[in-house]
Parts: sequence; structure tokens; C-alpha cells
Amino acid sequence: MGVADNLLALLPEIPSSVSLVAVSKFKPVEDIMAAYSVGQRRFGENRPLEMEAKAKALPADIEWHFIGHLQTNKIKNVIPYAALIESVDSEHLLAAIDRAAGAAGRVVDCLLEVHVAAEESKTGFSPDEAVEVARRAADYPNVRIRGIMAMATNTDDEARVRADFRAAHDVLLRTGLSELSMGMSGDWRIAIEEGATIIRIGSSIFGSRY
Ligand SMILES: *Cc1c(COP(=O)(O)O)cnc(C)c1O
Repeated sequence: MGVADNLLALLPEIPSSVSLVAVSKFKPVEDIMAAYSVGQRRFGENRPLEMEAKAKALPADIEWHFIGHLQTNKIKNVIPYAALIESVDSEHLLAAIDRAAGAAGRVVDCLLEVHVAAEESKTGFSPDEAVEVARRAADYPNVRIRGIMAMATNTDDEARVRADFRAAHDVLLRTGLSELSMGMSGDWRIAIEEGATIIRIGSSIFGSRY
């Protein structure tokens, strides 16, 4: 099946209260336009320069979500285009985004990426750090912290995945924020059951990236 068919098969399964980010990283603009042509407007990218190039080439009513590791020297490439920076994984980065947004005369919506997975390699705030930073949101007037982003452990063990998502939801409740971005192609149904308000789906829509 093609991109539009994949998307049209997926959409009826997603509750209307949940936002779908179509993760188009590494995929050509033609694939994005195939999704756009059946109504998709929210896309996710994980590389600053790739997102910038696609944003410049594609319709202005696309809402771009930045979902990858962001180096401080690339913030300037992301700020003009990102509706939401989902992957703020350190206070150092948050402070740098705040300064860059201030210089650009903008307020940028962000999520705090929280580390809940078992893998050491996954980046992000600890649950306690995220709660503490959210409490000090006023320190960063050019950033609006909207919620939490998380990734579950990469495993077939559904109980483990569910526990990770539940831990992320607990962080959300402790912050009092409203948005919870979690769930990818393999685990988004569990994520929605555990309270996701945003899901990020790539390969189920666009096919394998390899
Ligand atoms: C690539 C990616 C996704 C989408 O993953 P799929 O398994 O292809 O759906 C979601 N979130 C992040 C942060 C990603 O990097």
C-alpha cells in the first residue's frame, strides 16, 4: 500500500482527542505530500537541516514537530519552523532555546523529554528533574512548556512498555501540564491506553526507513 492508503487505514483507529504526528524523517517531500493530500498536516522530523529544507519546500500550513536530539548550534534552524519542539532533553538546551526564541521575538512551545525506558542510551530528564524544571517554567519566558515526551523501552514485553508509559503519565500528572507525546508504530495503542495525547508514527505510514 502507498502512503495515503496507510494513513487512511490508520486514522479511524485513532481517537479524535489524540493528535497524530506523521514522522517523515528520511522520507522525500513526495511522500509528505501524499499524506498531505489526504489531510495530514502535522509532521515530525529529527534533523534540523532536513526539517528546515522540507519546511521551506512544502505548504505553509504544515505543523512541524521537532523530535530529535537538538544541538545548540542548530536551534536557529529549528525555531522559525517548529510548532513544537518535543525533544528538549536537558536544562542546558531549554535555556539555549529560551535565549534564541527571545532573540527571534518568539515564544516557542516545547515538551520536556523524560527518560523512562530501561535503556541507558535513551536521553532526557529524570522524572524528578522534569517536575522540578516544569515548576520553574517562569525562568524561561520565551518557552512555553506544554507537556512531556517519552519513549518506551524497545522490547516486545508489553508489560514493560506499559509500565514505561505509565511512568511518563505520572510525570505529566505531577507537572500539571496537559500534553503527553508517546507511542510509535509498534506501541501507540498501549500509549493511548496510558494517556497519550500525541502519538508519533513513522514506519506504519511511510514504510521502513532502511
Ligand atoms: C523515528 C521516531 C518515531 C517514529 O518511529 P516509527 O517506529 O517509525 O513509528 C517516533 N518518535 C521518535 C522520537 C522518532 O525518532
